[in-house]
Parts: sequence; structure tokens; C-alpha cells
Amino acid sequence: MSTNSECRHCEQICPSGAITLTGRLPSINYALCVGCAGCVSACSTEALNLDDFSPTEFFFSFVASQENIISCQKNVPCIAALSTEYLVSLSGLKKGLVLDTGHCFECSIGEKVLEHIERMKDDANYLLEAIESPYRVLDEKLGHSGEAEEEKDRRDFFKTFHLKGLGKVRQDFEKEITRTTDEFIEYTIDSSHTSGLRTKKITDRRKLFFTALKRSERPSLYHVVDAERIGFTSQKLMDETKCTACEMCYRVCPTGALTSDIRNSKIDFDPFLCVKCHLCHDVCATDALSVSSSYNLKEWFEPAVQNLVTFSVRRCDECDGLFSSVAGEKVCRRCQLEEEEARELWGL
Ligand code: SF4
Ligand code: SF4
Repeated sequence: MSTNSECRHCEQICPSGAITLTGRLPSINYALCVGCAGCVSACSTEALNLDDFSPTEFFFSFVASQENIISCQKNVPCIAALSTEYLVSLSGLKKGLVLDTGHCFECSIGEKVLEHIERMKDDANYLLEAIESPYRVLDEKLGHSGEAEEEKDRRDFFKTFHLKGLGKVRQDFEKEITRTTDEFIEYTIDSSHTSGLRTKKITDRRKLFFTALKRSERPSLYHVVDAERIGFTSQKLMDETKCTACEMCYRVCPTGALTSDIRNSKIDFDPFLCVKCHLCHDVCATDALSVSSSYNLKEWFEPAVQNLVTFSVRRCDECDGLFSSVAGEKVCRRCQLEEEEARELWGL
């Protein structure tokens, strides 16, 4: 979590008003929390977790099972506990998914999150069509098991949720995920920066997403889609005339989607790793970065690191340290700042 972030996704999705943002950080009123895990799915950086429901654990359990129905009466606290990324991944692996919204209309949580569930489903199907997947996410009012069990203690329910074969599926996936993560690191950065990226966190859902994509057929054509329909990744554009080489965006980027080299001579971007958390935009004082209105799905199958801007690196005339000079400056920003402060102090 970062105090620079202007993100309010968890607060917006919470159906019971349990989350409020104080000083840009969420505070949770546990007395009001209904354990739906909507906030867990809404958080693109996976900063929030529930003690007794993990989407990653659910993913492995669900893949190991014969089941393809997601229902609040069977296997999730609420359908909103899963993100679009999970729906796309699971739809491919399960050869189609069914969301049982049969209880949403009679559930006080469901009423408030139904719109969100509908949007996730529509976006997942839009993307599945764009990658030429034959599978879709269906919405059926099954009212699973016929027992609403409105007063069910959701937390107790998940303590008993285990499925046979889980260990094997998890093991297979984890081997693939390790390979995928190593690939991320190998192609994303040169060796001088490896340690830097290792401290960044690639989210579980992103690892699972790309591991699931690897198991699917490549489309015959890479479509360019409307970026508004992808809530979980983005393509960035850079206005080089606005960038001051302040280093904030790639230092704050939680996943390593934005990187530089050891000399800070450039900014590279990897759409494969971006989780659309918006943090880089929130810290950029000059609005040099923007989100492209389109996204080429080639990035999901043939990822490539893109150079957004390159700076000339020179020695500062004052301190002799190296710095990124964007407009031919001869003095680094720290020395400029010190001079400004000294002038202010002396009233010059
Ligand atoms: S894009 Fe913005 S935050 Fe990133 S280095 Fe340039 S000015 Fe700083
Ligand atoms: S590039 Fe920006 S939006 Fe994407 S993960 Fe990094 S900080 Fe978040």
C-alpha cells in the first residue's frame, strides 16, 4: 500500500461500508465486514487478504475439481470475490464457466455487487472472444442446492472447503508458474537489474493468468481491444516533453512493469506485468504518463519490453555525480534544489 495512491477500489466495492479510506490508506471496520472478499478481488496489487478465503487457493481447488459452477452456496463467499483475470483463466482451463447468480437477487450483498459481477462477466467474455477462445462465462440463475442458507456463517463454510486432487494440480501449476516467473525476469531486464525486479511482486493472479494462457491456443490474429474493457492491465504512453526523469514512477511501480537501468538512463515498460494500479500516474507530478485507449493482445502471447523514454546521462557541474539530463541541464536536480533552498534562506 502506498500513501501516494489515489485508488479507492476496495472502498467502492465494499457492500457493507466496512472500508473507508483514511489518509489514502484503507481502514476496516471488522464489525461491519461480511467476508464477501469483494475488496480482495478489487485490489489489483493483492494488498488485501481474508484469513479464510484465498482466491489462489480457490483457483487450485476449483481446477482440481470436476466443478465448473461458481456459487456462493458452494465454493466462494461471493462471486465478486473473483476478478476478471480469474474468470478468463478459469474459463479456459475449465472449458467454460457458470456463475450461479440465483441467490444474488435475494441477498443484500448480491444486490449491491451484482452490477460488478455483470461487468466482470461481460469483460471476461469480451476478452475470451478477442483471444478466439471457444469458451465463455455464463450467468445462470441456478439458486444452487435450493437452500439459500442466508444466515450461513461464510467463514465456517470455507474452513471445510477441500477437494481431492488439489495437491497435484497445485504442484503442476506451481512448476509452470516458477518457469513463467523466471521467464518474466529473464526477458524483462538485463542482469544489472535482476535484484531490483526480484524485490517487486508479480501478483498470484497474474502468474496464474499467464500460466493459464500458455495452456490455451494462440489466436490466429492478435486483436487490438478497447483498453476500457481490461481492468487489470494497461498499455502506457509517455509524453517525453513532460518527463523530468524524477524516477518516481519506476521506483514506486509494485510489479516491475516500469523499470530503468543502473544509470537511470531510460524508462522501460512491460505491459505483461502491469496490474493497472495507477500508482505511477498518481506520483507523476507532470502527468507525463498516460494510459493508451487501446491494448494489443499480442502482449499476452509474445510479451515485449518497450522503451518509453531515453535520457542522456551526464556529470553534474556542481557535485560531479551522474544524473539524467532531460533538457540539457548541467546541474543535477538535488544541487538545483539545494541552491533554491539556499536562495530562499538568504532571501535572494
Ligand atoms: S514519467 Fe513522471 S514520474 Fe516517471 S520519471 Fe517521468 S516525470 Fe517522473
Ligand atoms: S506500470 Fe503503473 S499502473 Fe502498471 S503496475 Fe506499475 S505502477 Fe501500476
